[in-house]
Amino acid sequence: MKILVIGSGGREHALVWKLAQSPLATQMWCAPGNAGIAQERLARNSAPVEGVSLGAEDLPKLLAFAQEQKIDLTVVGPDNPLALGIVDLFQQHGQRIWGVSQKAAQFESSKVFSQKFMEKYGIPTAAAGTFDEVAAAKKFCATLGGRCAVKADGLALGKGVLLCANQTEAERAVDEIMVGRAFGAAGARVVIQEFLEGVEVSLHALCDGATARIFPTSQDHKRALDGDLGLNTGGMGTYSPTPFLTAAQLADVARKILDPFMRGCVEEGIDYRGLLYPGIMLTQSGPKVIEFNARFGDPEAQVYLTRLENDLVELLEASIAGTLGRMELKWNPAASVCVVMASGGYPGSYPKGKVITGLDAANALPATKVFHAGTALKDGRIVTNGGRVLGVTALGKDLKAAQAAVYAAVEVIHFEGAHFRRDIGAKATAA
Ligand code: AMP
Repeated sequence: MKILVIGSGGREHALVWKLAQSPLATQMWCAPGNAGIAQERLARNSAPVEGVSLGAEDLPKLLAFAQEQKIDLTVVGPDNPLALGIVDLFQQHGQRIWGVSQKAAQFESSKVFSQKFMEKYGIPTAAAGTFDEVAAAKKFCATLGGRCAVKADGLALGKGVLLCANQTEAERAVDEIMVGRAFGAAGARVVIQEFLEGVEVSLHALCDGATARIFPTSQDHKRALDGDLGLNTGGMGTYSPTPFLTAAQLADVARKILDPFMRGCVEEGIDYRGLLYPGIMLTQSGPKVIEFNARFGDPEAQVYLTRLENDLVELLEASIAGTLGRMELKWNPAASVCVVMASGGYPGSYPKGKVITGLDAANALPATKVFHAGTALKDGRIVTNGGRVLGVTALGKDLKAAQAAVYAAVEVIHFEGAHFRRDIGAKATAA
């Protein structure tokens, strides 16, 4: 089977790595990929994974490539091509592709759409209002005592949310988003949610239009610095499973969220085939959905795919074919931890082109895999090429063992200015 993966981050490296293990995969490409992806080889025939220099949002060229190479399965990693309708386009041309349709991608690309859907179908979420007018927005913030999350409606590159502790901050946030257009045109409409207190966890479910198969829990670390301080980032690390939900509680959460979600999709004529990733706050009055994403999390994918025991090609095929109901997801009981090594300065501006050493030594450690995100090959050496550079990932018999293993691997990798958090998973080991 010829497989094309679209994207260039750590999530896509994890997807490529896992897909390449499938005996079904005979040839693979990644557009545009990165230096680590280009080092992967297929388990079946040792063929290298080839990089294709096409951007993830260049839909017509990606389609032409898939047609020329007679790709059997295209797998989409990031949210932008999904929101641009890559799945619809490929399907119109008879190309088999895994990912959600443009209509389904609205759960991520429009916070207003998501909020209204959750309210209509009784999915537990924050009390919220939707506004396209500044004065009404500020008035609503006041009813929440100013403790709220102000969210720009459209995709804003993982940003677009301002958290406020009082009315002064809330009014400033409304002005920044709606008047100053801090997140661009996405700020024409806002969703304002009550501020939810609790432990935040990531859920993932693979869906086939009728069945949603829930994954174990994981937890992301969004802030740049230890102790959840500093600026928001794309994610500085993850671990799975978390101790915050028992298996029975997870099943209950899945029932309360996924059942009405899938029912609502059917009623709205949304054929949800792909990955659903709800961000959840475990509040005192039960779990509440903060937001929906319509693709694998990054770096959640790194911990999930190192624990997944199924053949990923088979699972994605079942997600497309509507046969997930016949499949059971199998997970390694080990814990997985991913620590992101970022460029100095990230999430602000940062230099590129710093030589990375120790990658082979880290990869040679037991149960350890270094996923690349922002890397490139230059004069035969692997150099930094983005904010998040690597997702160092290790398995251990329990979370403490996985933490020890992952930080041992981080220790042997070096590049000038490297920055990483030292407390990935610490909330769980302290719990
Ligand atoms: P979002 O892009 O909607 O996931 O928001 C980004 C981050 O802001 C989330 O991961 C949460 O940590 C935080 N957040 C969003 N909405 C709320 C809320 N209603 N209450 C508390 N924190 C929130």
